[in-house]
Amino acid sequence: MAKIAINIATGSLQQPEIIVGIDLGTTNSLVAIIHPETKQPIALKEPAGSDESVATSSLVPSIIHFDERGAVAVGELAKHYLITQPAQTIFSAKRLMGKAYDDIKKNADFFSYKIIDDNTESLVKVQVADKFYSPIELSSFILKELKQRAEHILKTPVNKAVITVPAYFNDAQRQATRDAGKLAGLDVLRIVNEPTAASLAYGLGLSKDESKTIAVYDLGGGTFDISILHISNGIVEVLSTNGDTYLGGDDIDQAILEYWATQNGLTRDDLKANKTLMQSLRLKAEEAKKHLSFNDSYSSDLNGEVLALHKAEFNTLIQPLVDCTLTSCKMALKDAGKSVTAIDTIVMVGGSTRIPLIKEAVSAFFGRAVNDSVNPDEVVALGAAIQADILAGNNKDFLLLDITPLSLGIETAGGLMDVLIPRNSKIPTKAGRQYTTQIDGQSGMRIAVYQGERDLIKDNRKLAEFNLTNIPGMPAGLPKVELSFFINADGILLVKAKELRSGVEQTIEVKPQYGLTDTEVETMLMESITHAKDDIAIRALVEARTEGEQLLQTTERFIQKNNSYLSAEEIKSTAAAMQALQMALTMDDKNLIHQKIESLNEVSRPYAERVMDIAVAFAMKGKIV
Ligand code: AMP
Repeated sequence: MAKIAINIATGSLQQPEIIVGIDLGTTNSLVAIIHPETKQPIALKEPAGSDESVATSSLVPSIIHFDERGAVAVGELAKHYLITQPAQTIFSAKRLMGKAYDDIKKNADFFSYKIIDDNTESLVKVQVADKFYSPIELSSFILKELKQRAEHILKTPVNKAVITVPAYFNDAQRQATRDAGKLAGLDVLRIVNEPTAASLAYGLGLSKDESKTIAVYDLGGGTFDISILHISNGIVEVLSTNGDTYLGGDDIDQAILEYWATQNGLTRDDLKANKTLMQSLRLKAEEAKKHLSFNDSYSSDLNGEVLALHKAEFNTLIQPLVDCTLTSCKMALKDAGKSVTAIDTIVMVGGSTRIPLIKEAVSAFFGRAVNDSVNPDEVVALGAAIQADILAGNNKDFLLLDITPLSLGIETAGGLMDVLIPRNSKIPTKAGRQYTTQIDGQSGMRIAVYQGERDLIKDNRKLAEFNLTNIPGMPAGLPKVELSFFINADGILLVKAKELRSGVEQTIEVKPQYGLTDTEVETMLMESITHAKDDIAIRALVEARTEGEQLLQTTERFIQKNNSYLSAEEIKSTAAAMQALQMALTMDDKNLIHQKIESLNEVSRPYAERVMDIAVAFAMKGKIV
């Protein structure tokens, strides 16, 4: 029987906290949840008002409008201003996430609002009147609207979310999305890849024993991507991803717009000069496109001019675009090392996959029917809701694929960080490396586990420390200590150290994920970027010092052992070179240390070779050949 919790303070029933799934799209965004009773994912829609004939939609256009006083409107409300106030109406902000002007300048014409272009290398900003907005802020306006909408529909506060991003989004873009969430007052529990979410919505990967290779074909409003995923044991792996961030429904609208413009004797410059006309044509073009998904022809008018399009003409117009997507599919398969026949399932995502020609072309390419039963506009958000539910702990059987947010490693000589598992590694994962002792007869080895991106452990975070004891006495460098890191699916790190010659071993459990807030992870990453140059210099210095110290030790041992084979002159010059190196080690100059190491090597090389020869001859003598 299910347990019901009662909040003693308020006397009300305690509802489990809702975690929403959000698809933050280029053209449209939406929120989904797992229905508390049916346990099925649903996209949130405003309940129909008194006018039942007006269907409400789960989609919120990813459009932001700023009025003269800077007041913000998002969604359908903002969409109306695309025509009348194009300079104050921002669309496709997702395309700007994590981008510099240099990245987008070849498509700058596409945007009918002002993008700041004076500093081409720093992150873009959008100018509306005398205000500047970063793409993060713009996205946060959309997320805020989605949050409020969800709260209004669910009648409960919504503070936690899972947000999806394209699989190809880099770290900067993912971080930007996370920051946008934070700015909107959301605790972003996870950033999930869109194709992974779409697969989940089709129930793929939800069964533990399933092993499948899936192609997710996502043609949305602004972008196209194809991802090849492999799902096994509930773990989703992105094998490859390909696509075009400037190919989508918007481009189809643009193709229709240009077709009509040509028919009506309008040049690109005419359209550029009359942004209002351009936006009106764009909206008509989109209307025509959608109409042609279910009808054979479209006809309308604008300012008295007829705008017509037949399906055959439309198909010819979009054929090059479709071909482009298929070329990407080919490349994605190649990168994944898979043939078309290895694909078990094809999942269709994005509003533009409603176009019959696209469904046919994709299905012909893969040689099998495509999966299009889930609403292609909602499929990603529905999957995000499923992920959110898993995170809420309601689907415990499912293993969550996660990544390590920061690198994991151990302290080595000179306080350096030796990374065993780099950040962003998929878990479960394991890594191993061999280490040895530095001192003769060393019987123990201290193993300190750290998390972080900096080169020096003092700048990283210590997670655990333990001693591998009882190593049998051996000369320095002889013991072989195999250190293995294993992160299981729960994010628990197991560290095992084993001396291979004696079999002595020790294991500890560390929980790397806990205790670090997002902000701390962020700060640690930021610091690693800021200090990257210093870190490289310090690492080089520490490495030079460690090498120098080790050389001093081995030289000293060598001289003690082979004193009788060396001339007084050789011992004297060695002592001088050792002293010079010792001096250099106290200074912060790696070149000087290297120079002194080299000098000491030069002094010792001749007699070292001579002594080796004697040793070999001696060894040979004892043998009867
Ligand atoms: P998304 O980014 O997934 O929300 O996809 C939105 C894109 O899908 C827009 O370019 C829409 O114009 C397009 N779209 C929506 N419905 C249809 C349809 N019935 N036929 C063709 N394209 C559509």
